[in-house]
Amino acid sequence: MKCEQTNKLRRIAKPSEVGQSYAVRLMQHLVVPTFVLNPAREVVVWNRACERLTGVAAEDVIGTKKHWRAFYQTKRYCLADLVALERPDLLNSLYPEFTVSAHGLGFSAENWCVMPRLGNQLYLAIDAGPIHDEDGRLIAVVETLRDMTDQKRAESALQALASSDGLTGLANRRSFDQALTLEWARAQRTRSPLSLLLIDVDHFKLYNDLHGHQKGDDCLRAVAATMGASLRPADVAARYGGEEFAILMPDTTHDIALHAAERLREAVCNLRVAHGAARAGKHVTLSLGVATEVPMDEMNSDNLVTRADQALYAAKHSGRDRVLSSERALAAFAQGAMPSGKRKARTR
Ligand code: GH3
Ligand code: MG
Ligand code: MG
Repeated sequence: MKCEQTNKLRRIAKPSEVGQSYAVRLMQHLVVPTFVLNPAREVVVWNRACERLTGVAAEDVIGTKKHWRAFYQTKRYCLADLVALERPDLLNSLYPEFTVSAHGLGFSAENWCVMPRLGNQLYLAIDAGPIHDEDGRLIAVVETLRDMTDQKRAESALQALASSDGLTGLANRRSFDQALTLEWARAQRTRSPLSLLLIDVDHFKLYNDLHGHQKGDDCLRAVAATMGASLRPADVAARYGGEEFAILMPDTTHDIALHAAERLREAVCNLRVAHGAARAGKHVTLSLGVATEVPMDEMNSDNLVTRADQALYAAKHSGRDRVLSSERALAAFAQGAMPSGKRKARTR
């Protein structure tokens, strides 16, 4: 009886319907997480792998336009919506990485997704492509997803490792130099002030001699942590080399940079790291040189570094444990109050 019914069904099913349900069944069991929208952007297929990836059951989204809820907390377009709407212009604002197929085959993008149902973020590689009928009319958009979270985390960890200083966790010299080049070019474009603090721990050789290299490392870590805590998000703090540090402050006037330097000097004093060498004070202190430039076209970033370096040199020679402005340092050099030419300008 059952067999007869099936045969009857088979007889009356149109070839196109048979083909369609076959395609849908194939898609359901595809190992690649996939969903399909119709031209009205309603979900018509939400396969098992997509259920597993998102934690959202097919029955909760089929026939709705709520597919975004599987990926994001607030309402927004998914890549398939942009294909259906033919809106490549929105890719830039919605995805940090994307490409548009040159042959009208859709869009590819990558994004961190919130995955509200799972409760953990995933980095997804997404492809969305249109399907047209013989007359060129859009009949569906297929979106496939790949979970790239592990690769992305590994890549980010490697990047962080390559750009940070092992002892202090601050940016290393290489990434500082990159930041300086970038920020210099930006300041040149926007004609905005870029400030640089060069910082050196006073009598640190004596500190090592007295307390040992291990304690010296602890001291550098404490100084770096104090620097890190006082930064604004746009500032870049780096270990410039040995017991020297640098802070790059975009969009910052000379006065503001001098204040920031003075606050940092005080904060390190207040750590009260005992020094105790006869020639040093009771506690570990810093000398800081501050320079600011509004970069002109003919200048390069070496100007800024050289001036901050001269100011640091002047701070050392006028007694240490102080902040010196590059302008005051220049004036002192000009009046012959400072022995000039002894300190080699830093070359990068
Ligand atoms: P000044 O006040 O003129 O800056 O004197 P200073 O003794 O701090 O300067 P100097 O350049 O003579 O010595 C710097 C010392 O910093 C010598 C070096 O052993 C120490 N140093 C550099 N890097 C590290 C590090 O990673 N760990 C430790 N513990 N010491 C370091
Ligand atoms: Mg030094
Ligand atoms: Mg020093």
